[in-house]
Amino acid sequence: MPLAHFDGALAVITGAGGGLGRATALALAERGATVVAADIDLPAAERTVALAKTLGAEGAAYQVDVSDAAAMEEFAAEVRAARRVPDIVVNNAGVAVAGPFLDTGVADWERVLGVNLWGVIHGSRLFGRQMAERVRALPTKPDRPNLGGHIVNIASAAAYAPSRELPAYSTSKAGVVMLSACLRAELAGLRIGVTAVCPGFTGTDIVRDATFVGVGGAESERLRERGHRALQARGYPPEKAAERIVDAIVRNRAFVPVNAEARVLHALSRIS
Ligand code: ADP
Repeated sequence: MPLAHFDGALAVITGAGGGLGRATALALAERGATVVAADIDLPAAERTVALAKTLGAEGAAYQVDVSDAAAMEEFAAEVRAARRVPDIVVNNAGVAVAGPFLDTGVADWERVLGVNLWGVIHGSRLFGRQMAERVRALPTKPDRPNLGGHIVNIASAAAYAPSRELPAYSTSKAGVVMLSACLRAELAGLRIGVTAVCPGFTGTDIVRDATFVGVGGAESERLRERGHRALQARGYPPEKAAERIVDAIVRNRAFVPVNAEARVLHALSRIS
């Protein structure tokens, strides 16, 4: 895989209809990758593919719920059959649940862990297996660190910034950091890279769809709108975060804090 410019690379991006997923898909498309854009929101993924095509890239949109094990298995098999084993996989789909730990109900815990943690486990496991199998079938091992493929998992600075606001979300993202570190160690010998990205406050749409635990309909709507406006106004631009992701693939970085505070950087330095 020519990682420096991604020409001819096949990239799968989940949550590709949303802010960071779309920006990453387009950053890869711009550099010559073919993009497989997956999202639970099919029109949003289709829009990303349409934008990628304006950049001269090829692409296809898929509807998939990343938290659904069977659906993800089908999706991974379909990508392989329709195209081939991907060179890059970006597990980005995510949801936000905000509110106190004790008030967060089982259904909300399951949802946030299902999408944010299980979704990344499914994507990493299924495509990681495909990549590993492909490398094992080669007569000689690739001679560069991530020439066998690269998996990027979108965690969050919230993984290392305990708060009363986002306990379930932060827990799911802390899991993403650790699973990425473990998988990186496991796949290094096969020349497959794994990166955990920890964005801080980023200007995506995630708050617009957030769940506020224990808050009534109208108040929830107000919080969503307020949070969304704050993110749009002051959040780190997703396009810039996407550039950092591309750079992380090129350099095969283990962790990429983006707009993250010092305690996050410190925590990441201790597990790398
Ligand atoms: P971010 O870009 O920070 O991840 P966004 O809310 O902008 O935040 O994007 C998240 C994307 O993930 C959205 O396009 C959303 O539709 C998608 N998504 C949410 N839940 C799922 C899911 N279960 N399966 C696949 N995609 C999902």
